[in-house]
Amino acid sequence: MMVEKLQEYGISDPKVLDAFLNVKRHLFVDSMFWDCAYDDSPFPIGSSQTISQPYTVAYMTSIIVSHYHTGKILEVGTGSGYQAAILNYLKYKVFTIERIEMLYKKSEKIFKELGLNIALRLGDGTLGWHEMAPYDAIIVTAGSPDVPKSLLEQLNENGRLIIPIGNSEKQRMMIYHRQGNTIYESSANMFAFVPLIGKEGWKE
Ligand code: SAM
Repeated sequence: MMVEKLQEYGISDPKVLDAFLNVKRHLFVDSMFWDCAYDDSPFPIGSSQTISQPYTVAYMTSIIVSHYHTGKILEVGTGSGYQAAILNYLKYKVFTIERIEMLYKKSEKIFKELGLNIALRLGDGTLGWHEMAPYDAIIVTAGSPDVPKSLLEQLNENGRLIIPIGNSEKQRMMIYHRQGNTIYESSANMFAFVPLIGKEGWKE
């Protein structure tokens, strides 16, 4: 049902669709949402945060898959851990940062239970994860007022930062592509994310 919806919305890469068929979304949400876990909807995951709508996860994943077959990815905003699990299924080396301890602990538990080799950290992801840089792609799953400079600095040659930028209600998906010392900027669809809170994001 979820995969059909994604196809209807224009997600066509077979590798991306296969990941959505195989990573069990219900494992990343509270059991009270199990009946509708495969609907194309976001759900609350506690601390006023959400697991993103599958279309949003698929959209960001498709950008990565269209440019990189393998590589190192940093996700800012682990949330439920679902996006990280999708990227891990697609064989990327995934690093993910969450600022809320309760969500960090929940994701750590589910990754362990599923035997997923995903590096996880508690902290302010607007500053990136310097020790593990550079990354082929950095994906920010919360809405930012501007582009965090620290994230641009942690991109590999030919790396891309994919980040929703805008106000607290709506953000445009932006892509920053590093080639040598130049950063090429392009924009994509509008989305509505919870805020990216941190030193280089929104203030608390
Ligand atoms: N990718 C997630 C998933 O698959 O469930 C959805 C993420 S949710 C829409 C956004 C997450 O970003 C929230 O869990 C929030 O706590 C986190 N967040 C916000 N600001 C952050 C920051 N500076 N560093 C790390 N995580 C942050």
